[in-house]
Amino acid sequence: MSTDNRSFIFNLDWMEVLKDYPKEVRYEVLDAIIGYAQSGEVHGLSPIAGIAFMFIMREMDFNKNHIHPCGKRHWNWKGGVSDRNHSIRESSVYKKWRKAVFERDGYRCQCCGKRGGKLNAHHIKPFSLFPESRFDIENGITLCKKCHIELHKTERLWVKKVF
Ligand SMILES: [Zn+2]
Ligand SMILES: [Zn+2]
Repeated sequence: MSTDNRSFIFNLDWMEVLKDYPKEVRYEVLDAIIGYAQSGEVHGLSPIAGIAFMFIMREMDFNKNHIHPCGKRHWNWKGGVSDRNHSIRESSVYKKWRKAVFERDGYRCQCCGKRGGKLNAHHIKPFSLFPESRFDIENGITLCKKCHIELHKTERLWVKKVF
C-alpha cells in the first residue's frame, strides 16, 4: 500500500446525514467508507446503504484526486433531470437497459420483494453524476414505485445536507 492510501478526508457532514439512519445501516456505511479508503472497492451494500455510500464515494474520489490547498470543495452537484437526460430515458438503449435490469431481478422489487406492478429501474450511482454507468446493468436495480420514491428522498437529503 502506498503512503497516499494511509489517510483520507472524512467529511463530518456525512455523519450529519447518517445520524438519521438505523444503526445497522450507519455501521454498514461506515464500514464501507473505511473499506473503500483501504482497497478502493466496496461490495454487497444494502440498497439504502448503497445510496448513502454512492454520495460519499463520489466525494472521496473527488478529494483524493483534487485536494485543494484551501480545502474548498470544487465538486458541484449536477442534479435535476435535464432535457438531455430526458431524451436518454426515451432512447432504445435505455429501454433495453431497463428491461435487462428487470429480467435479472425477476421483475421483483429488490427492496421490499414485491413482484410485478409498476416497477422502476433505479440507477444505483445517480444518473446525472455517473454518465459512464448509465447503461451498466450492474448499476441498475429494480424497485417498486414506493421504494423508489423512498430512495430518492434519501438521495435528496444527501444533496441538501452535504452538497
Ligand atoms: Zn418495493
Ligand atoms: Zn431512481
